[in-house]
Amino acid sequence: MTTLVIASGNAGKVREFGQLLADLGLETRPQPDGLDVEETGNTFAANARLKASAVARATGCWALADDSGLSVDALGGAPGVHSARYADSDGARIERLLRELGEAGAHDPASRGACFTAALALANPAGEVVLEVEGICPGQILEAPRGEGGFGYDPVFFVPEAGLTFAEMPHSQKAELGHRGRAFAALKPQLQEALMAATESC
Ligand code: IMP
Repeated sequence: MTTLVIASGNAGKVREFGQLLADLGLETRPQPDGLDVEETGNTFAANARLKASAVARATGCWALADDSGLSVDALGGAPGVHSARYADSDGARIERLLRELGEAGAHDPASRGACFTAALALANPAGEVVLEVEGICPGQILEAPRGEGGFGYDPVFFVPEAGLTFAEMPHSQKAELGHRGRAFAALKPQLQEALMAATESC
């Protein structure tokens, strides 16, 4: 059985990735304790590549990394790769976002356009990135939070296709329409192919 290291120290993320890949018959495990890869890239894809490659080299295993975040048109793509570091808590991040967006398009939701992006990168045990995909979910930033579910920016991210914010959607709907779900849907067939052809595993 091929082992895939999930390049993250976040136990929730490692568990979620394991579930998303459950039907591929892989053994997934978290990256080693104490390994902290700096996210110095300017794009989600660059950060996913950095993490996948560093973790594969450190472990000698296949490694899968992701980087994700919110890009708001009227803010020139911010918070973008700084989404997690934009403020100290989910509430403070939303507050800052709404403040910076100010009155932009208060009466024209289309000018509050934004998208969530999830980039995934797979590196082989030598640290070479052999597969990259991106999932994008377009939406709009509301003027006030709506819904109780989800995390992060979910309560202010409205998906016109669903008529709901991420925080109002059932889990299954966010998994289907959301950026991570779309990225995994694109990744899985190619991941299976890459690992089936693999000759080395840790
Ligand atoms: P990452 O773990 O480095 O990819 O950080 C991504 C950051 O982007 C998170 O801390 C959240 O602030 C934000 N983010 C990514 N995906 C979502 C989502 O599905 N809902 C809400 N916020 C998200």
